[in-house]
Order: sequence, then structure tokens, then C-alpha cells
Amino acid sequence: MSDDVDEDNDLPLMANADEIRVRHYKLKLEFDFDTHRVKGSAIIFLQPLVARDCQSDFEVILDCRHLDVSSVQEVEVCQPFAKIEDLFLNEKAKWSDRQILFDPWFDSSRTLDTLRFKLEPWCVRVTKASVSTAFDFPRVIRFDWSTRPEGRSLLWRQDQNGSDSLFTPAAAVNNRSLFPCQEPPIAMASWQCVASTKQKNRGIKFFVTGDEDAVISHDEEFYFYTQMVLPMSTFAVAAGRWTVEEIVSRHSNISSDKLGPTVEMPMHSGYKEVQCRKKHDPYPCHIDRGDIGPTIPCRLIGPDNLVHQVRDQWKIYLPACLEAAHSLLGPHPFKKLDIVILPRSYSGLGLSSPSLMFVSQSVVLNCDGYNLIRLAHEVSHSWFGLVVGALDWTEEWLSEGFATFAEDHIHLAAMKILKERRPDRTHFGGYPLADNDSFSWTEWSKCRALIKYKTLAAELEATPEDQQVMRPMSGRELRDPSTEIAYVKNGQNPELAFTQVNYMKGYFLLRHFASIVGLERFFGLLRYYVHELYHGCLVHSTDFLNLFFKSFPDHFPIGDRERNVKKICSEWLDTPRLPNCVIAEFEAAETRTSTSNFMKAVQEAIPDRKRGRKRKMSGRFNSETMSSCLVPEQIILLLEELLECKTVGKSVLKELDEKFSFKNQNADVMHRWCELIVKHNAVEHVPFLESFLREHQAMGIYLYAEMAMKRNVFQKVALAVFESLEKEMDPNTVVNVKSILFEPSDQNK
Ligand SMILES: [Zn+2]
Ligand SMILES: [Zn+2]
Repeated sequence: MSDDVDEDNDLPLMANADEIRVRHYKLKLEFDFDTHRVKGSAIIFLQPLVARDCQSDFEVILDCRHLDVSSVQEVEVCQPFAKIEDLFLNEKAKWSDRQILFDPWFDSSRTLDTLRFKLEPWCVRVTKASVSTAFDFPRVIRFDWSTRPEGRSLLWRQDQNGSDSLFTPAAAVNNRSLFPCQEPPIAMASWQCVASTKQKNRGIKFFVTGDEDAVISHDEEFYFYTQMVLPMSTFAVAAGRWTVEEIVSRHSNISSDKLGPTVEMPMHSGYKEVQCRKKHDPYPCHIDRGDIGPTIPCRLIGPDNLVHQVRDQWKIYLPACLEAAHSLLGPHPFKKLDIVILPRSYSGLGLSSPSLMFVSQSVVLNCDGYNLIRLAHEVSHSWFGLVVGALDWTEEWLSEGFATFAEDHIHLAAMKILKERRPDRTHFGGYPLADNDSFSWTEWSKCRALIKYKTLAAELEATPEDQQVMRPMSGRELRDPSTEIAYVKNGQNPELAFTQVNYMKGYFLLRHFASIVGLERFFGLLRYYVHELYHGCLVHSTDFLNLFFKSFPDHFPIGDRERNVKKICSEWLDTPRLPNCVIAEFEAAETRTSTSNFMKAVQEAIPDRKRGRKRKMSGRFNSETMSSCLVPEQIILLLEELLECKTVGKSVLKELDEKFSFKNQNADVMHRWCELIVKHNAVEHVPFLESFLREHQAMGIYLYAEMAMKRNVFQKVALAVFESLEKEMDPNTVVNVKSILFEPSDQNK
């Protein structure tokens, strides 16, 4: 790949975080739901890192985009301090008391000199007259600004009940259209935040990443704080007129015996003896705080009708899921969890930030065991992505690949916990809790891998080769040689927002590792990696690889470590496509035509499946022989098989719909059904398709492509649905759908 910067797609990192570092933010944000602007003030604590004299005025550069900065001022520091932390990280001081640690800093009597600043498209540069070194620059400064409606850090949308709401959609620009900050991941900081709205009487509640639930003042200001030092991209906010329902109570958190009999977890081991090695910036980390688990308090937040749809089910599942994650991955890094159901325009399925998880309504509607795995996935991000993060954003597999690997194991362990704890139940979320004649959890795991393989194979076909690489920078930096500005490769490229290549390739790499050393030992290594070694730190892919090849001398001689790491980089991380060993495994006839009962149920429905891609399916669909209680993975594989048939008769489609009642299935099953509808021109199902595109906006992108290619009534439907949704949709989704619908020659080559 080329080292050239692509200004349209690569994302600049302007902040000079290697010269002076923001250690703490105090943020006051007032959200105006009528003008879609935020009035912001921030007190920012700076720590100088290099003593170099610039000869000219020293600049503090903060990343920002579409902000109207009105003033930057020096703030008076009243108490003496040796280190900047002394000003805000006093262990005795109670962060929960905003009167002591927050409000006084915003007092206008404390502002001193007005500093000079220059606003550029991607940053703000601040100088003080005749200060030429970082050490002479003021340590505490105040910014005042307002956001512009075109900024991408916030989406202001009506929620499912038509009420005002907003959320941070994990845009390419992260939070730099919300407040000025240092964006490079190394610039980790803690924060306090007071969020409020101008429209006090609308009953809007705020949810911000924070250690504790908000402290709400009489004038409806919501106060949050996060003591852990984190990259600023992990800051998230959502607000709406929402119901808050307790899902896991604070009281079930005391000890595991309160939850009933202990479930034997072969991989569980004690953490009491683990000590923090202080490799991270100082903060009261979860190791120092002591063992947190097996569950943490958890609340579900969103429009009341959606919350009510799933609360009973999630009240059973989430304690088991959190306990399963605790047993596999160790103590919870965060003390609580708020789960917010976002408006339907949210372009992802889930997003984790510290103590705060966003989920799409696609996870909530017709929620079954299949959707619940998404919760397991997001829960695992507390370990993979948050308590250990990637130094280089483009190495996304370090969070997504790990979470995609962990999700099935956490879910399996959760189902085991439910089986033991709930002897009254035989089924949960549409799945049997114990193996039976046509279902086994071992086969379920294989089937999940097969679905992931099929998803990845399809994505690889549709993704340009340079975007199939798990480590696009190969450990190097992307810098414009003339300006010295660093960039995140493809950081703004809207196409990448929808690709799951990194999730799936990462999954297959970790699965490959686990198959060599054994699952139990592999999870032991993961616990060591996230707890003892790297909690609170950022890593490169090679840090994990080196650890892996060091940890199993019985499989990999220590002397071969360097060679082994290089081999994995060249065969997996730095190359497009998938290694042959994975392709061989899944393309092998045995895997696909496995004689398991699990797959038999699927295969019996399609008796002539061996004829390959050209086969027809008209009226020979054996719906009678097929068990009607297939689990979602079986239904998905059945639909995938049918998608490979050249023709499928109308009567078969009708029978399928009668049998499975697709309108009551989870979004992933519905998605395959929609593909079948489009592929076989089943115009009578167009209303179903339209409703899917409206309600599951994160999942429709491939359908738009398939519909556009049809150049018939489906193309017209795609255009009409898109036009009706364009204003509501996530701007990234709009760019992608537009390119599909209006530049078909480019897209469908
Ligand atoms: Zn620690
Ligand atoms: Zn994820």
C-alpha cells in the first residue's frame, strides 16, 4: 500500500500530544434541542512533556472540527502543586462532590489572561505571548465554544416515540465536533462532565460515560465523572425522554452465593493475588479496587415500549452473561453498566464505552438468543477495546476480533449458568438449555463458525484488497512529509464503516490460536493479557503476538518467537484474504455436509443440495420433514443454502414464510429473508422489505446494493425508501447508500 495521505479518506491527528498532554477535562455542555447546537465550556489541565524551546511562541494544538471557539483563557491555580494531577486527582477528594471539584473552576473570577487562538478546519492553535516552551505555558486553560449543526459528533434525532433525543454515533471525527480535545489514542485523560439542556421542561435525561450514576441537581444538570484515564474517543453521551429500568440490581452484586449454587466453570481462577504493576497512568484501577463481580449493576434505558419488550428476558440473561464474562475474562473493569437503546437511525448494532453501552433497536425487536449474543459481544469490549485499547486505531481487530471471538464463549457459559440456576426452564430465548436429539451446543458452536465464515467470504468478495488488511499500517505511522501531520489511514472513509472483515479475520486468527493450545489455556492467557499485563494501557498487535508465542513453549520454542510473529503478520495481519488453512477447513465437504443432526434438519429440507449453484428449488422443499423448532442459526443456514439456489419457486417462499413467520424473527434472519425476496423477485413481499429497511437501518446497506442491481421494481422501491429516510439516516449511511443507488457502474463492477 502507498504511504501517501489521502485527504478525503485519511483522518488527521493534529494535537501535539507528544509535547504537551491534556490530563483532565472538566466539561460543561448545554444541549439545545431546538437549534441543534451545544454551548460548551471546558477547563483543561495540561502537562508539559518536552523542554525544547520553539524559538517562536509555543503552540498547544487541540483537535476540533466545526466548532465556533469564542475564547481561550488562562485559569488561575490557587493551590500549590508539584504535578498537574495534584490539582484534580486527589485521592481523598470526593469526585462525586461537584461543589468541591468542579464548579469553582468555572468561576469567572478565576480566569486570567485571554490567550490567542487560531481556528483551522481540523484544529485550534493556542499561544501565549512570549511563551516559547511547553513548561512555561499555563497549566490550566479554559475554552468556550459552541458546536455547529453540521458537526458529525452528535446525531439529533427523534426516538421511536417521536421525542427529542441525541447520541454520539461513533463518527469518524469521534468527539471533536463536540469539544476540543487531543485525539491521538496515547493522549489518555480522565474527565468530569455536567450535561444539561436548554429545554428544561421536556423531561430529558442524560447518560454519559461515567463511574457512577449521574448526580442530578435541582436545575436538571446531570453530573458525571470518569477517573480511569482513557482515550477521548471513548467519551459518549446519549439523551432522551427515556425510561430507566434496573436489570441487574446493586444488591445481587455482593457475592456469587447470593445468585444460587455456584456453577463449575473449568476456566475460572482466582484473581485475588493479582497486583497492579502500575504500567498505566495513575488512576484507581479495577485491580487496586479489588475483585469486581461476578455481576455489576445494570440498567436498561430507552423508549418505554422497547424497554418493556425485553426487560423480563434481559433480567434473566444479563446477570448470567455478566457472570460468564467474569468467569472467562476476570473481574469487571467498570463498576456498572447502562445500556441505551438508540433511535433506529443508529448505523451500528452496538457500541461500548466505559460503563455505557449503546444498542440498536435491531437487537431489541423480536429479541431471541441470537440477539443476546450481541450483548455478550458488547460486554466483552469492557476488556477488549476499553481496559486494553489499540495504540493504532487501524488495528481494529484488537477490539473487534477479540470480542467476536469471546462472544460465543461468553454466551455458552451464560446458557450453562442459566441451566444450573433455573431448573424450571428447559428453553431460553428460543434455544434448548440442554442438548437434545436435534440440537447440541457443540454443533451450535461449529455452526456459528460456519456462518461467520460465510459472512467473511461474502465480505471479502465485496471489499477492495487494501481494506482487507488487519494491520493496514504494518506498525508504521502515516505522516504527511511536508506538514508532519499524522493521519489515521482510512479514518474518514465511509465505506469502512460497514465492513466486518476485521471482526471476522480477527475471530478466525484467535480461533486458530485456541485450537493449537486449547481453549482453557488460551482464555488463561487472555486473562493474563487484560489483567496483569496491559490493563489501562494501549497495545500494538505485535504485543499480543509476542505474548502468545512466549507463553506456550511446549508448542512454540522460545527461540522461534520472532519468526513466528513475523509469520502471523505476513500470513494474517498484513495480507488481504484469508489463510488457506481456514479456507480449506470450511470449504471441505465434511464441514458443509456434516452428518450432524443439527445440519441434517437443514439439509433434509433441500434434498438436491448437492447439485451446486445451478440447482433449482421449486416445489421440492421438504418442509414437512423439517423440524419447525429450528434455532436461528439453523434458519440462517437454511436461507443461505436457498440463496445459493438459482431459482426458488413462489410456493417454496410461501411455505417458508408460513413455517417461520419471518415478521416475528430476529433481524439477522429477516435480513436473509429479505435477500431471498430480492433475489427471487417476490414482489408480494415488498412491504416487508420496506419495513425492514426503515427499522433496521444499520443492516440495509447490502440490500440496497442488491436491489439497485435488479433494475426493476426493487430498484424503484430502494430509491423511494431511501428518499423517505435520507434526512433521518446516519450521514455515513447516506453517503454509502447514495453511492450504491446513484453510481451503480462504480459499485457493481
Ligand atoms: Zn492498575
Ligand atoms: Zn464490537
